[in-house]
Amino acid sequence: MDFKDVLKGNKRAIARAMSLIEDDDPQGLRILRALHKHTGKAHIVGVTGAPGVGKSTLVYRMAKALRKRGERVGIVAVDPSSPFTGGALLGDRIRMMGIATDPEVFIRSMGTRGCLGGLARKTYEVVKVLDAWGADTILVETVGTGQAEVDVVQAVQTCIVLLVSGLGDEVQTFKAGIMEIGDIFVVNKADRGGADRLVLEVKAMLELGQAHGKWEPPIIKTIATEDSGVEELIDGMKKHYGSAKETGILRRKCIERAMLDIEDIVRDRMMAGLLTPKKKFLMKVLSKAVAEKRMDPYEAAEKVLCK
Ligand code: GDP
Repeated sequence: MDFKDVLKGNKRAIARAMSLIEDDDPQGLRILRALHKHTGKAHIVGVTGAPGVGKSTLVYRMAKALRKRGERVGIVAVDPSSPFTGGALLGDRIRMMGIATDPEVFIRSMGTRGCLGGLARKTYEVVKVLDAWGADTILVETVGTGQAEVDVVQAVQTCIVLLVSGLGDEVQTFKAGIMEIGDIFVVNKADRGGADRLVLEVKAMLELGQAHGKWEPPIIKTIATEDSGVEELIDGMKKHYGSAKETGILRRKCIERAMLDIEDIVRDRMMAGLLTPKKKFLMKVLSKAVAEKRMDPYEAAEKVLCK
């Protein structure tokens, strides 16, 4: 397939390119490389939070609001708990809400199949395809409960952390280290009790942290099911994007990201080059010796490297 079909907006080509990339197919790599210089224009926004806080509902509403503003929207729903790529729950929920037929919206679900340990990188690559397609905003939705998810949101430009009161979810999210990377905090389900108290709690927490430099993360109350607070949230994320551009944070992040990318690829290539079938076989033999305490793992590693 031709990468130009992605640039032309052919949705089948976009989906195919994403699958090839996810499967580590050499053709996918070729497409990704060709698309690289066509990327860098989209605003990449992460939406994260514990299961049930209202991520899918909010992402759907945000996408609608962005469409009303005339934007082209990409949605990537990352669900590390789902083993099936293309069948993850989060994206399907949004799809069912009926925006998937809009030619200016593209939704992609990602599970862990085929990208164990590399979900963040694959997500980043899929986002790149949407960026090249010409999406103005790309919403990356993920469950915020583990390290893989933290890695995913670290690749975005604006990170929205969703909380709700009363479920104890906020505690879970605080623990996962998501609090430090939130650029905007949303207290959803504000139609229920306890929202104001949670706003105060988050505020106190942020004042303790103060790791954000000039940008002070706003805390926005929403009722996703009633479309309340969504416009304010969109304005907030645009403001953050503008501020990050102005202060040079965006550029710095982009360079940091590129560095990680290069490192990743170099490491992969070196490992692939080093771990010849012969060395792998030797490792297998030596692992028995290490397990039986006849050799320590450092000595074994040295033998593998010297062979
Ligand atoms: P996700 O797991 O974080 O993606 O959460 P969902 O978007 O699937 O929402 C979980 C449930 O919460 C659904 O039944 C939604 O209808 C409901 N929900 C979402 N936002 C709100 C809200 O603002 N208020 C209330 N009362 N319910 C909401």
